[in-house]
Amino acid sequence: MYNHKKYMKEYNAKNKERRRIYREDNKEKISLYTKKYNSKNKDRIKSRFKGYKDRNLKSWEGYIPKRTKCQMCGVSIYLNSGDSATAINFDHRYGGTEVIKGYPTRWLISHKRNPKNEKIWKSCDFGILCRECNRRIPTIGRDKFLRNLNRYLQKGKRCH
Ligand SMILES: [Zn+2]
Repeated sequence: MYNHKKYMKEYNAKNKERRRIYREDNKEKISLYTKKYNSKNKDRIKSRFKGYKDRNLKSWEGYIPKRTKCQMCGVSIYLNSGDSATAINFDHRYGGTEVIKGYPTRWLISHKRNPKNEKIWKSCDFGILCRECNRRIPTIGRDKFLRNLNRYLQKGKRCH
């Protein structure tokens, strides 16, 4: 008896194998074609990536305030500002023990907002700083930095 499901399964398996062999035999041709396609469609690929980038970051607006103030100096900073001078710099407050290790903004760009990702983001408890304040404090060894700074300031007082 004709079994459509079984037939399709066999058909797909055969096709898959055929495609695999074709790819194997035409590696150079395919790689050349891909290169050609990519260079011809550079702008389209770029704008597609940009669209996807904007979509992910945009999805976080509201959960992360679009406009807020630096927690150190109080200057206004923006999510997705497009200008690093006025952008929010998410600060690793716990010496890099957070789940999100690299650049937090980069993580936001590559992760859509959903309950699971919200939880990950919340667990990191990033500080919100402007670029200048973020530059002034080190990520690792903050306690030591503060002790040294304190000692340095105390020494300064004694001289006067
Ligand atoms: Zn600041």
